[in-house]
Amino acid sequence: MHSGQNDVAERQVVVVGAGNAGLCAGIAALQAGATSVSVLEAAPKELRGGNSSLTRTMRFSWQGSPFIAALLREADKDRVEEILDGRSGYSDEQYAADWLRVCGDQVDVALIESIVRRSTETITWMRDFGQRWAPRPTPLPGDVPIVLDGGGQSLQDRNFARFEQLGGTVFYDSAVTGFEKTADGRYLVHGSGPAFPVIADALVLASAGFEANTGLRERHLGEEWRDVKLRGVPFNEGAPLAAAVEFGADTAGNWEKCHTTPQGIELPDYMLPGQMHKSHGLARYAFPLGVVVNREGRRFFDEDGGYSNLTYVTLGQKIQEQPGRIAFQIFDDKVVSAGSLPNGYLGDPASVTVSSIEEGARRLGIDAANLAAEIERLHSGSTEKRLDTPPFLFVPVVCGLTFTYGGLSVSPGAEVRGGGEPIDGLYAAGVIVGGLYDQGYPGGTGLMAGAVLGRAAGTSAARHSIRSRGGEARVGTVAG
Ligand SMILES: Cc1cc2nc3c(=O)[nH]c(=O)nc-3n(C[C@H](O)[C@H](O)[C@H](O)COP(=O)(O)OP(=O)(O)OC[C@H]3O[C@@H](n4cnc5c(N)ncnc54)[C@H](O)[C@@H]3O)c2cc1C
Repeated sequence: MHSGQNDVAERQVVVVGAGNAGLCAGIAALQAGATSVSVLEAAPKELRGGNSSLTRTMRFSWQGSPFIAALLREADKDRVEEILDGRSGYSDEQYAADWLRVCGDQVDVALIESIVRRSTETITWMRDFGQRWAPRPTPLPGDVPIVLDGGGQSLQDRNFARFEQLGGTVFYDSAVTGFEKTADGRYLVHGSGPAFPVIADALVLASAGFEANTGLRERHLGEEWRDVKLRGVPFNEGAPLAAAVEFGADTAGNWEKCHTTPQGIELPDYMLPGQMHKSHGLARYAFPLGVVVNREGRRFFDEDGGYSNLTYVTLGQKIQEQPGRIAFQIFDDKVVSAGSLPNGYLGDPASVTVSSIEEGARRLGIDAANLAAEIERLHSGSTEKRLDTPPFLFVPVVCGLTFTYGGLSVSPGAEVRGGGEPIDGLYAAGVIVGGLYDQGYPGGTGLMAGAVLGRAAGTSAARHSIRSRGGEARVGTVAG
């Protein structure tokens, strides 16, 4: 639909960013009765998918093996008991406790709890529109036992397919730079590319954080984060986030912190959609099975402080503070021979297998005397960890930045707040939302939060549009 005079496209709902959060919003908006829904995406079509296309895991509450069996792809349904290996469920209470234990204090507890409470129904909603799960290969203790079938790449392929089947349109090469309210209460969205100019009854912001913006990183995270390597796409530069703040949106969460994890040193400056397998191969999360030291040969992190999917972000952050911004994970043959290490470890060209700790230190430039003393302290301490069976595998690791924590303040219904109150017709979902993490991060919650809030945002945006046009929303389920 176009207003002929200025050739401004008029939409009921415009979503900014075609990651998992944005596409969940788009799908929900169409399901709730909106008929003209566009997603504006900065990347070209061949590089679509966002950081969501590099992922693998969603963390959700569940009870009973039939729930998991229903999520599994056909080929694995019969194996559900074997996959669960004695696990019978993960309650809302356990989920919320895990999240709140590691995330730090500067968070919106009510928002987190509301996301957790809606995780089961949102996973079912995703299953119903076509998402499928598969067993996790080489699970580490505490891992969610199933992962998205085909990983984030397939998650996104299925999201795009469903959105387009329902009648949604994606505009590529269309980076949003700002927006303003029109006299009649709609949103005029600015940017460069084929989608513009466009006016929306309701606007959903889902363009992630400012992780890929060197200047904003330096300003908010500090000088040492200027040159960090990105685990994700170079498109998340934060322009819509900055525009929302300028528009009057409230901010939330810790703008000085970010999600980082230990990565193989082959990590390039950034990753692109289509590189999911390479990205998964670079993860170095098996550190609880070994010992982590810095170049000075000193341990600087409690490897046994919890399941790695609850502590890996803390380790990523600490690596950035070590001399040379590098660390070394060391395993002995008990671990390697048991086949406990994920594949990426074994094929890492920067790793070395050596017959003694001294040789490993010498070959990788670690202070050998300090390291020997550190291992001796380890063996005489109360921990059962032992590095006593050669050969030893030394794996150098760096910090990879995933996403920034600071973002917009939203209600559990994904309404963006301004001056403490919801701003009419403006919603946000995904990493652009602040208040979910302050320090640590429980693995699999980013996609889950994006799906819950994306669904809520899309449903509410459609209803807002239909109401503003004098009609009634078609669907009764409230996702907020
Ligand atoms: C390698 C890697 C692995 C990860 N693994 C997991 C995992 O297993 N589980 C998990 O829960 N989380 C994981 N995460 C975190 C994960 O990325 C987030 O939880 C989730 O994917 C974020 O979704 P999103 O839609 O907010 O952002 P994205 O998927 O990044 O989508 C944002 C989109 O907005 C677009 N965009 C940016 N700026 C603009 C603009 N100005 N105009 C228009 N479009 C714009 C981008 O191009 C992008 O397509 C991982 C991240 C990375 C990098």
